Amino acid sequence: MTMQNVLNELRDRPGTGEVIPIINPATEEQIAEFKDCGPEAVNEAVARAKQAFEAGVWAGLPARERAKIMWRIADLIDEHADELARIDSLNTGMPLVQATLGLSNCAEFFRYHAGWCTKINGNAFDIKTAGIASDAWVDMHTYTRKEPYSVVGLIFPWNGPIFNACAKLAPALAAGCSMVVKPAEETPLSALLLMRLITQAGVPEGVVNLLTGYGHTAGAAITAHPDVEKVAFTGSTEIGKEIVHAAAGNLKKVALELGGKSPVLIYDDADLRKAIVTAAMGIFVHSGQGCVCGSRIFAQRGVYEQVVEGIAAVANKMKLGSPDEDGCASGPLISAKQLTRVLGYIDEGKSGGVEIITGGYRLDRKGYFVHPTVLTNVDPGMRLYQEEIFGPVVTITPFDDDEAIAMANDTTYGLAAAAWTNDLSRAHRLGKRLHAGTVSINCQLVFDHAVPFGGYKQSGWGYEHGHEGIASYLKTKSVWAQI
Ligand code: ADP
Repeated sequence: MTMQNVLNELRDRPGTGEVIPIINPATEEQIAEFKDCGPEAVNEAVARAKQAFEAGVWAGLPARERAKIMWRIADLIDEHADELARIDSLNTGMPLVQATLGLSNCAEFFRYHAGWCTKINGNAFDIKTAGIASDAWVDMHTYTRKEPYSVVGLIFPWNGPIFNACAKLAPALAAGCSMVVKPAEETPLSALLLMRLITQAGVPEGVVNLLTGYGHTAGAAITAHPDVEKVAFTGSTEIGKEIVHAAAGNLKKVALELGGKSPVLIYDDADLRKAIVTAAMGIFVHSGQGCVCGSRIFAQRGVYEQVVEGIAAVANKMKLGSPDEDGCASGPLISAKQLTRVLGYIDEGKSGGVEIITGGYRLDRKGYFVHPTVLTNVDPGMRLYQEEIFGPVVTITPFDDDEAIAMANDTTYGLAAAAWTNDLSRAHRLGKRLHAGTVSINCQLVFDHAVPFGGYKQSGWGYEHGHEGIASYLKTKSVWAQI
């Protein structure tokens, strides 16, 4: 399927609502448009998913057959990795090499979860319970069954379109769910190709249903739908809260992977060269459009000047450009809206007296490029220090040893945190005391399909990946049999 096929397929998808343009953020040119699918399409898709679930076309297959199909999806993703990476790179503006690197993780999502298909088991209990009619103990054979949620709604954002899709589809398929899938309105292209591959691999019709539309129309209709048993969402904390409200109607289960304002602590005994380069990439990669980006760096007083200088040097060296320009380390922001938002935070900083060490402006060229920006002298009360910016903007603050943890934890978010130190005891103390779902020691942006990922505080509900991830798509039923 060529890029042109994908664009045509999107254009020809039925829809009743508004026409949504897709803009190449590196050129500001329109590359495609499609129709908002609207609530009727959501109703139809949910009905198809429900019917497929009730007919048992997927959940009713032998687990080993589901596993084989999931391996086939992984192989097809590998075969089409180049096309998928090109599509995401065009759609998001991220350098092709980064999009390509992400693809191996996408195929692996399906291989990892294929393994779970044959390992979904309940427990058995040998229980004696008090009889209702007599004092005698009654023997029971009691066991739990793990059963898939019937129809799940999977909603995800634009920052890693194919990665986000696979992160949710793979466990939902392994568990045996049917699903409706809504990519972000800015980046629906790679999901279209993924749907083709899923069908080609042998997932029966009706199990996976793609919806292309806006969040406030299609997304909201999914979260309010009475036949959707669970919603798994990745996106902003603000929309996460809306989803919780919308889900209350039928008390659907909600899993949320939300925003972050992740601290990075650099101690004076750290391997500074490594810490500086990694911390700089940990915020500037993909122009800071990652939920785990380390947007608040704290440097121990003895190394503060070096850290500020070092991070600024990396920022100044980073070549920004469109995916077809050679040697680009990062691309543009996703949209004009996002550009306005990021520049708004920077302007507030400027008028509030922060020091701009480097950056703080939009590049003088087409595309939504913002120079990697390093800010110091930031008051902790400022919005840019407290809120997720989702742009290439980092604050650097000095600390004394005894205040570091409190400063790092002083946020409503709790997605990730990192610490750079060669003191082993301190490293593990930080592992315990930092309030975040993921704590990285002497590393950042690390990931594996087997390791649970989720947010503390307002960064989320529930976990993805690993055992916790697959478990979140399964219900537990207890069965009691008197023997
Ligand atoms: P971001 O800030 O990363 O764009 P959003 O939280 O706005 O993230 O959007 C993430 C996903 O949620 C997108 O697919 C978007 O269309 C969808 N979305 C936005 N608003 C709603 C809503 N009210 N209900 C359900 N989904 C929504």
